Amino acid sequence: SELANPGVRQLQPYQAGKPVTELQRELGLTKVVKLASNENPLGLSSKVKQALAAELADLPRYPDANGYYLKSRLAELHGVDIKQITLGNGSNDVLEILARTFVGPEHQVVFSQHAFVVYPLVTQAIGATPVAVPAKDYGHDLDAMLAAINEKTRMVFIANPNNPTGTFLTTAELKAFVEKVPEHVIVVLDEAYYEYVPEAERAPSTDWVAEHSNLVVSRTFSKAYGLAGLRAGYAVSHVDVADLMNRIRQPFNMNSLSLKAAEVVLDDHDYIQRSVEINRQGMQQLTEFCEQQGLNYIPSYGNFLTIEVGDDAAELYQQLLHEGVIVRPVAGYQLPRHLRVSIGLPEENDAFIQAMKKLRG
Ligand code: PMP
Repeated sequence: SELANPGVRQLQPYQAGKPVTELQRELGLTKVVKLASNENPLGLSSKVKQALAAELADLPRYPDANGYYLKSRLAELHGVDIKQITLGNGSNDVLEILARTFVGPEHQVVFSQHAFVVYPLVTQAIGATPVAVPAKDYGHDLDAMLAAINEKTRMVFIANPNNPTGTFLTTAELKAFVEKVPEHVIVVLDEAYYEYVPEAERAPSTDWVAEHSNLVVSRTFSKAYGLAGLRAGYAVSHVDVADLMNRIRQPFNMNSLSLKAAEVVLDDHDYIQRSVEINRQGMQQLTEFCEQQGLNYIPSYGNFLTIEVGDDAAELYQQLLHEGVIVRPVAGYQLPRHLRVSIGLPEENDAFIQAMKKLRG
């Protein structure tokens, strides 16, 4: 292990859960409900299912390395040039491409205390210095983040809404921040949960890249679009930023099926609407439960709710597992008293609620 670069030696591997079927077998359960990875509980869009069946015949061929059709569709959607879109194998890939394009071992990367795990991961893999800024009310403290930026800072990550806290920054707060960040710092605005934000509150963030060439907005097809298993994400940026990212992007980072599925689901408005609606209802179901039980939770704009369950969060997580309900411990995000629960179908949320009532009385 002395051979690994120093940043890599400090990293802990991503904690993936066991496959659901394996866990079910081990615990001898007839049913397991997974509310652990902020996935879409609706199942695959039927339009996507049909399109994928037709796409299978083309699998002996390489995918379109440029993702021409998907990028054209995204460019149209955002009112930008096709040259401003960079596709990723999930938005994680976009985040990694960004870090590898712009950050070197001599740089610092700024993010918030309870930030998404991939930000420190990509930073440390490069050997750059992560700077985690203490949060304010669980969310980003933008003034403190600005104060943490110096001449060595090359990148700042902001997730809006944030995972795992679900906290949200308003358009005015974000805009003021982007305007104050110096030009030698790339601002990565990660909007993985954008579609769950009520329309009136969404920031027109992709419009801002026209005036701010150091701003990159990333989005994913893994959440409201229901394509987590296919791996599809993208960035909207200035043309020069996209050109640089494209130099290190693996040519076939999105495969034929993910390209097709993403293109088709963008137009499945009914599916997206149902995703958002089921999330709104499930969020209400879970927050009402918390209120009845006197449990604190962090008000969330995402498709998950992070609940303060107390000092025995790790134990409760294990007990819930044995009841067949998988949630996500967030101690690794400096939230040792909380558990993050993804919003599922009404009956899945109810399985969590019933298990909690049984365990907690
Ligand atoms: N950003 C944030 C804030 C996330 O929570 C996630 C998913 N957990 C991602 C990015 C990555 O999603 P994907 O790689 O599936 O697009």
